[in-house]
Amino acid sequence: MKPGQYILLSCTILLLAATTYWLYIFRPFRNISEQHIVLQPLGNFPDKEAAWLLENIRITHPNSSLRTAIPFPPSAYYPTRQRYRADTILRYLRQAISGDTVIIGLSQKDISTSKNGKKDWGVMGLGYMPGKACVVSTFRLAKSNKREQFHKVVLHEFGHTQGLPHCLEKTCFMRDAEGGNPLDEETGFCNQCSSRLHHKCITSP
Ligand SMILES: [Zn+2]
Ligand SMILES: [Zn+2]
Repeated sequence: MKPGQYILLSCTILLLAATTYWLYIFRPFRNISEQHIVLQPLGNFPDKEAAWLLENIRITHPNSSLRTAIPFPPSAYYPTRQRYRADTILRYLRQAISGDTVIIGLSQKDISTSKNGKKDWGVMGLGYMPGKACVVSTFRLAKSNKREQFHKVVLHEFGHTQGLPHCLEKTCFMRDAEGGNPLDEETGFCNQCSSRLHHKCITSP
């Protein structure tokens, strides 16, 4: 086989593997492919990572789009910990969309909310439940497999916007991180969460 043919074959295999993986991960969402997802990078979030996420989300949500980056809302800044309040970001993002759209804020900076009796608790993401906005941050993710972990957080927060609460199943995407990073133990939505998502898909207007 010539080197050119070998490269072409390798690329095709890689593309097929990536597509199969994403179709598997997103299988509960197949019936809501009409839903519009807007990706909204915040601050200096890398273009390359936002484009990568869009490409993969479009496999199941072809109507999805990527907006140009905007600054964090100044009122979200929490100077004591030099990070951004996720709940303030959600209120800000919610105003930027209309109709059957979910907006996902993308952050490289650390984000936080009030949780477990703590006034300012660092999180990987936060989403309305149910609602139209969520925000995810790469700040607390492992460096070695950041992309893989990132998409799991995106799916978790998107799941919240679709009405899914936290799940006790340790391998489920809807597991509560509880201040840690259990993402590598998560393999997909459990049967119960999948069926709730599916039910939401076929009953939503
Ligand atoms: Zn959660
Ligand atoms: Zn679950």
